[in-house]
Amino acid sequence: MSDGKKDADYYQELRDAMVDRQIRARGIKDPRLLEAMRRVPRHIFVPPAQRGRAYEDMPLPVGEGQTISQPYIVAWMTDLLRLTGDETVLEIGTGTGYQAALLGLLAARVYSMERIESLADSARQRLTDLGFENIEVVVGDGTKGLPEHAPYQGIMVTAGAPQVPQVLTEQLADGGRLVIPVGTASMQMLTVVERKGDRLVTREEGSCVFVPLVGKYGWRR
Ligand code: SAH
Repeated sequence: MSDGKKDADYYQELRDAMVDRQIRARGIKDPRLLEAMRRVPRHIFVPPAQRGRAYEDMPLPVGEGQTISQPYIVAWMTDLLRLTGDETVLEIGTGTGYQAALLGLLAARVYSMERIESLADSARQRLTDLGFENIEVVVGDGTKGLPEHAPYQGIMVTAGAPQVPQVLTEQLADGGRLVIPVGTASMQMLTVVERKGDRLVTREEGSCVFVPLVGKYGWRR
């Protein structure tokens, strides 16, 4: 067996175990989501020094003071979007591109925004190398959203905001959902805002910890 094949089998086993013990065991049931998490090679998205821990039950540092979320948090947030496959989705906070890759498997089209250009560049390269063709990484301040491709059936913010930026709710399609951590710099409440016509219905799902969302309608640094 070639080393490449052995490696692939090894990482596949780690990924299957991650999904069983960390994701399914904690109550995530959507078969499409579980399958997507079995497929996306998380170890490719983390820095080489972190590769051995890529499938562990924890967030990891990815450079520029940023982190890739714990696998379960990624699953939890993605589950809350309830994607069926034909949606256009906006992600804010590309980071490594791991979350974007999952969204790419679960929705029709993904726009992912990142304010740090070097992170955006590596994420874009990685996603291209892995063959993703429905994900566009855009450099910019995601607190303003991306009006040119709105409305979105799903918007996911993977950094902690001081409040829900109103412009993001304005870019939600009818029936669309915004998933966003809202709170202080050190602790947030994972919040879901659903648009029902002109009404917005807000629910709090549980606490979480993210790096700060920095921008015009986020933290001012
Ligand atoms: N989803 C990522 C992890 C996100 S970490 C992954 O799967 O790897 C949070 C990211 O949000 C960081 O990369 C940070 O630079 C970015 N970020 C913070 N504020 C932002 C803003 N206003 N617009 C776009 N990206 C932002």
